[in-house]
Amino acid sequence: MSASRLRGRFALAAVVGLAAVRVGAEAIPGPIVIAVDATEAPRRLFHVRESIPAPAGALTLAYPKWIPGEHSPAGPITDLVGLKLSRDGRPVAWKRVPTDVWLFTCDVPAGAGPLEVAYDYVAPLTSQTTATAQLLILNWWSVILYPEGPNDNATLFSPSLRLPAGWKFGTALPVLRETGDTIAFANASLVKLIDSPVLAGAHFNTVDLTPGEKPGHWLHLAGDSAAAVAIAPEDVKHYQRLVAEAQALFGARHYDNYHFLLALSDHIPSNGLEHHESSDNRAAERALTDDDAKKVLGTLLSHEYVHSWNGKYRRPVGLVSGVSADYQPPVDSRLLWVYEGLTEYLGDVLGARSGLRTPELYRENIALYAAQMDAQAGRAWRPLEDTATSAQLLYWGRSDWADWRRGVDFYPESELVWLEADTIIRQKSGGKKSLDDFVKAFHGAPGGPPSVKTYQAEDVVAALNAIVPYDWAGFFRARVSDVAPRAPLGGIENGGWKLVYNAEAPDLTRAGEEESKLYDFWFSLGIVVQDGEGTSGEGEDGRIQDVIPGSPAAVAGIGPGMRLVAVDGRRYSEKRLRDALHAAQGTQEKIELLVENVDTFRTYTVDYHGGERYPHLERDPGKTDWISAIGKPLTTKP
Ligand SMILES: [Zn+2]
Repeated sequence: MSASRLRGRFALAAVVGLAAVRVGAEAIPGPIVIAVDATEAPRRLFHVRESIPAPAGALTLAYPKWIPGEHSPAGPITDLVGLKLSRDGRPVAWKRVPTDVWLFTCDVPAGAGPLEVAYDYVAPLTSQTTATAQLLILNWWSVILYPEGPNDNATLFSPSLRLPAGWKFGTALPVLRETGDTIAFANASLVKLIDSPVLAGAHFNTVDLTPGEKPGHWLHLAGDSAAAVAIAPEDVKHYQRLVAEAQALFGARHYDNYHFLLALSDHIPSNGLEHHESSDNRAAERALTDDDAKKVLGTLLSHEYVHSWNGKYRRPVGLVSGVSADYQPPVDSRLLWVYEGLTEYLGDVLGARSGLRTPELYRENIALYAAQMDAQAGRAWRPLEDTATSAQLLYWGRSDWADWRRGVDFYPESELVWLEADTIIRQKSGGKKSLDDFVKAFHGAPGGPPSVKTYQAEDVVAALNAIVPYDWAGFFRARVSDVAPRAPLGGIENGGWKLVYNAEAPDLTRAGEEESKLYDFWFSLGIVVQDGEGTSGEGEDGRIQDVIPGSPAAVAGIGPGMRLVAVDGRRYSEKRLRDALHAAQGTQEKIELLVENVDTFRTYTVDYHGGERYPHLERDPGKTDWISAIGKPLTTKP
């Protein structure tokens, strides 16, 4: 898709509140009524009814395919079931488009009433629209069919949602009225609807983060238990500071109101999805009550919040699906090192500035990213930019040989790139300027209701040069476009710190292990080991999730998918593997691992004597401590 066409469609998206729906070339009055019945959500069943005032003739109905923020054709079309069309009570036949299975065609007969469309959405727990017995998250893009046409952006919807009895909800979608358990929302464009998920639940808590202020900010919590949604006052303060720090950083907002939605469940995978005026966040049930789980939750909400500026307002020209409201064409995601990478950086910076993470945890996270990226074998063949370009597939990449394949490294590695850019600006300006100035210029004023301003790589380079002149094009070429055998560690070094390794597990690693039972022997043996729910059945301990090529485990012949059965002659446990590392440390003794490979058992001998080994940042006293300066709050909000 050419840039000029994208810009043309973007201009179209700026037109808000058109009164008529257009189907093909013919305008029809009134909005599409869409009613979602979620009363059976606890058994992962959503009933959908749409009334489309379509004129007689050919009609194509589209199910959103390329989902904004997912950067992939993630529209879960296989879970749309029971599709029936009718007009005035008479069935209307449909056919799927063989070359694009997200599209349905039909021939609408003449009639008095609208085209009635009925179907169910069957939602797995891994879906972006899903539910447990106690809560649900509704993303409208999984429960909507829209008439495809040259002007489909003008489509208006009149949405309603029926919840299980007594459930409360939160959303950025303006509410018209509530009748019993049914919510009628104000008419919304397709873009607005798809951008506005709903969180609901039996155990629900809404916290007003900026009472009496405009725009308003709310934190909505739904959990699998009443205890899960009881947020402590000091944690509320952190999120209040997040809002204040973001305003201080960007200097303007691009929303009317903002709603943080947070689902707290151990049955729904942790995740986050960004929107202009809200974010859909999912974390463990105890993410607000247990210290380790809180560390794992970390900066999820600050990351998704940053996206309101970086990703939603400023958006790479190739990622404009949802601006044009045409969700069917493929996207060009090569600039995700800005869209996601700068968001990862700023989300962590704001996490430190707002107190969501202590300065120690902020540095631990940088150390872990740096060490993971630096140890990665796949960087020998694949530039960072290629991971962004391939995001549509890499998001679904398996964990085996992920180190050799590379994963969605445009998150962690780009954080290191942006840290280096920040330290360069601070060094060159003698501390007078920073990446904050770039962000304010690029993502800030004028502010106002949601809008989209696209950019290309050259715009990023030009905006950086306006802050501090430098060979920014060459800087990004070397770190993003070219194969780079080492991770970009310049930001740590410029920032007054050194990446070092010692036997002490970082708090973030320990907390993550506690939560996930995925054990980190990455910088020692070169493996990560999954206890519990392994890939080939429940309750199996010792599954080797991945191996670093060239590491001691790999040299011994061990590969991903194998399972540790015994360590030095005794049944495997994570603690016994640690014991074996300690026993072999500084000796000539080798570690003997009995390993199950499919149905064959074999003993592998690992020649490793370095003990436990984890990354940390260590202060370099000869240099200015820019990393601590970056994490300092801009506001004086208590
Ligand atoms: Zn993101």
